[in-house]
Amino acid sequence: MNQFSRRIFVAGNWKMLTTPAEAAALVKALKVKVVNIHQTEMAVCPPFTNLSIVAELLKGTAIKLGAQNLFWEEEGAYTGEISAKMLLGAGCEYVIIGHSERRQYFGETDATVNRRLKRALAAGLLPIVCVGETLAQRQAGETEKVVETQVRGAFAEISPADFAKVVIAYEPVWAIGTGVNATPEQAQEVHAFIRRLLENLYNRELSAGCRIQYGGSVKPANAAELMRQPDVDGALVGGASLQAESFAAIIKTAEDLDKG
Ligand code: PEP
Repeated sequence: MNQFSRRIFVAGNWKMLTTPAEAAALVKALKVKVVNIHQTEMAVCPPFTNLSIVAELLKGTAIKLGAQNLFWEEEGAYTGEISAKMLLGAGCEYVIIGHSERRQYFGETDATVNRRLKRALAAGLLPIVCVGETLAQRQAGETEKVVETQVRGAFAEISPADFAKVVIAYEPVWAIGTGVNATPEQAQEVHAFIRRLLENLYNRELSAGCRIQYGGSVKPANAAELMRQPDVDGALVGGASLQAESFAAIIKTAEDLDKG
């Protein structure tokens, strides 16, 4: 927790990995490793097919459950899609929206991120909204412009009361799954930029209270220096969340940070 009551939040994105048996083994191994975590908020986001089994195994623990996507319609003839109500029924509290892999491979745009966000909030799911620039955009000096467009697009027509429930993940695309993380300075610079932008879009209080996770090749070795940055409020972890050992180590690092 920092002086703005931003509780550090570490979430694991399991992507399209883990069978039900593998998911069960992973969560069983994880939960015994984090029994002494009390300050840091923790969540895992398995694939849809593993949500119920993981929810069952998480009962009685402090680890929360999230999904990796949802559809914006309430229900109906949308073959292959998953609704907010289904996620809630499966035990989810959180949902990742607008991950760069969805933008890259599945045509996700700022407009569809906004539609999904509205549905998640209306249903009572807590969204983790992902933004971040590609390497080409960074090299062209467009990082702030790209992130600003994504933030403005995602939060169009989102009320201050709803915005207060949102977590943002800054995930530079070039850092996701590459082993090349943003430096703590690069992360802090963009997080501070997002916070200034949020102050403009909403107000100082909501901006100061909004948790902004960093994502992109976070591992035990770099977690402390990244999460120690004043505007970095935790991590969205892909690869390193697929092993109980490394994910628990990142959570413990968060727990040990003294961010007054
Ligand atoms: C992610 O999938 O959100 C992510 C940050 O992946 P990785 O930690 O593997 O870079």
